[in-house]
Amino acid sequence: MISKSRNILYRICIPVFLISMLFSCKTDRKEHKDELITEAEGNNQDTLEKTSSQMDENKRFSSVNIPEKYMEIVADTLGIVVDIRYASENNFTKKQIYDCPRCFFRKEVGEKILAVHLDLKERYGFGIKLFDCYRPSPYQNKLWEVKPDPNYVTPPKKGSIHSRGMAVDLTIVDKSGKELDMGTPFDYFGKEAHTDYIELPDQVLKNRQLLKKIMEIHGFKGIRTEWWHYSYRGLKGNVDKWIWSCE
Ligand SMILES: [Zn+2]
Repeated sequence: MISKSRNILYRICIPVFLISMLFSCKTDRKEHKDELITEAEGNNQDTLEKTSSQMDENKRFSSVNIPEKYMEIVADTLGIVVDIRYASENNFTKKQIYDCPRCFFRKEVGEKILAVHLDLKERYGFGIKLFDCYRPSPYQNKLWEVKPDPNYVTPPKKGSIHSRGMAVDLTIVDKSGKELDMGTPFDYFGKEAHTDYIELPDQVLKNRQLLKKIMEIHGFKGIRTEWWHYSYRGLKGNVDKWIWSCE
């Protein structure tokens, strides 16, 4: 009899205990996530003071007429730094390719990019800086006209993964928005930018390793010749010619 009532007690108590554990874990996780967002937003002030005019310009655009399949990452979202180099002359072509600096991804990819940023924030207090995102095919053609060299630019007939909204050029920034040392600048086309080049200081190799690790966790894969370039593997799509508005 005692054993029977103990059995009943266990049958009731254990599920109740497990359910309450589940809820408390969920609440902890949510609160933690909220803290994370608050912390990221808290850093906005820091980042804001250091923003370039590109960052300010990036925030002024209208969000109407964006195709359903894309999402935009606007400068300062959760503390993300946006520095779209092809919208300035500060790129390897020394010419402005984009009419204005905006950053779009296929929605599934953009969500992963946000996850990368939040993950870096949570684990190390770091964040991401975006150099290039979706690249409309007319802009890819323009890049090709300026630099018709397949070692530098994907030929238009092949079609870049950037033009499918599934590739990103990025680096990691510390809490103050300063880039981690990756050994070369973005768009440096030499062997020092290759991911299998190891004649670099330990800290540079560690920084590149961190970028690779965090991107791979979230479904991206790098390429051998550019430490800053990652493509998302979990999606298929065609090259797109849609160009964002600069209004
Ligand atoms: Zn790229």
